[in-house]
Amino acid sequence: MTLSIDTDLVTIDKIQLFADQQVETDMLRLDKIHPQISGNKWFKLKYYLEQAVLENRSGLISLGGPWSNHLLAVAAAARETGLKSIGIIRGEAPAQPSETLEELKSLGMELVFVSRTAYRNRVQLVTDLNTNYPDYLVVDAGGEGPTGAKGAAEILSYVPDQDRYTHIFCAVGTGTMLAGIALAAGKEQHVIGICSLKEKEEQTASILQWFPTLEDRFEINTAFHFGGFARHTAELTDFMNLFYRQTGVPTDIVYTAKLCYAWKQLYLDNFFQPGSRVLLIHSGGLQGNRSLAPGILTF
Ligand SMILES: *Cc1c(COP(=O)(O)O)cnc(C)c1O
Repeated sequence: MTLSIDTDLVTIDKIQLFADQQVETDMLRLDKIHPQISGNKWFKLKYYLEQAVLENRSGLISLGGPWSNHLLAVAAAARETGLKSIGIIRGEAPAQPSETLEELKSLGMELVFVSRTAYRNRVQLVTDLNTNYPDYLVVDAGGEGPTGAKGAAEILSYVPDQDRYTHIFCAVGTGTMLAGIALAAGKEQHVIGICSLKEKEEQTASILQWFPTLEDRFEINTAFHFGGFARHTAELTDFMNLFYRQTGVPTDIVYTAKLCYAWKQLYLDNFFQPGSRVLLIHSGGLQGNRSLAPGILTF
């Protein structure tokens, strides 16, 4: 069995925050396609699943933190495809497992905890996994890599008239989704990634290594990291509540909140010429908001 999307679930919503209508903004709501295989993860995993089935693997094995959107997607997608899954979790097994870890277990994922030190040496870790689990297809953390990008290149096919947009914005973790978007976008479109991390050098280098033709076809903005990956400030959570109240769109603390904040700030800074048409990609990840203390978010 392979995954398929009920395309009725994918909507394109108008985002109207400002009275001035000179800049039009739409949002592709990939957060709505599946509760667990959320947003971009569906696309990034597509060809890994296909490969695992083709190669008769028993399942997928991948890595992530205790609130990982990626591992949740791997666990659910493997299960729906009839494959097993193993999750390598960063850090010692907690006395009180996160809700995401509980959900991974309920989806049948086998969890293996590794120390932060071992996790940091990811290249070695992935090499060891390949040796120790020959039956499994190893998917790098976050679904990073050209196989993931090939799937992400299909995201824009869910946007009718996608070439009418002057700017396409998405969040950046590993940069795999951004690479896919840049592959599918037209030469004259501005493809801009809002980085959830402080640095963009690794992602930029990886994207250009996978796809040298993407030179000059995308940019990564690091001005909106709010302290770094998986970090946030009260300003960001206040923004999430306000954005939800004004647009009805829930955002996630790690990626899409920073994306939407960046879009608003760039708008206010007159980054967009009148007549610009902007597409924001809501890449999902809402389950990660469970890592926040109760009461911080109003949605
Ligand atoms: C995983 C994830 C991203 C990051 O995608 P990359 O391809 O790693 O850059 C962005 N947004 C959400 C909601 C995610 O879960």
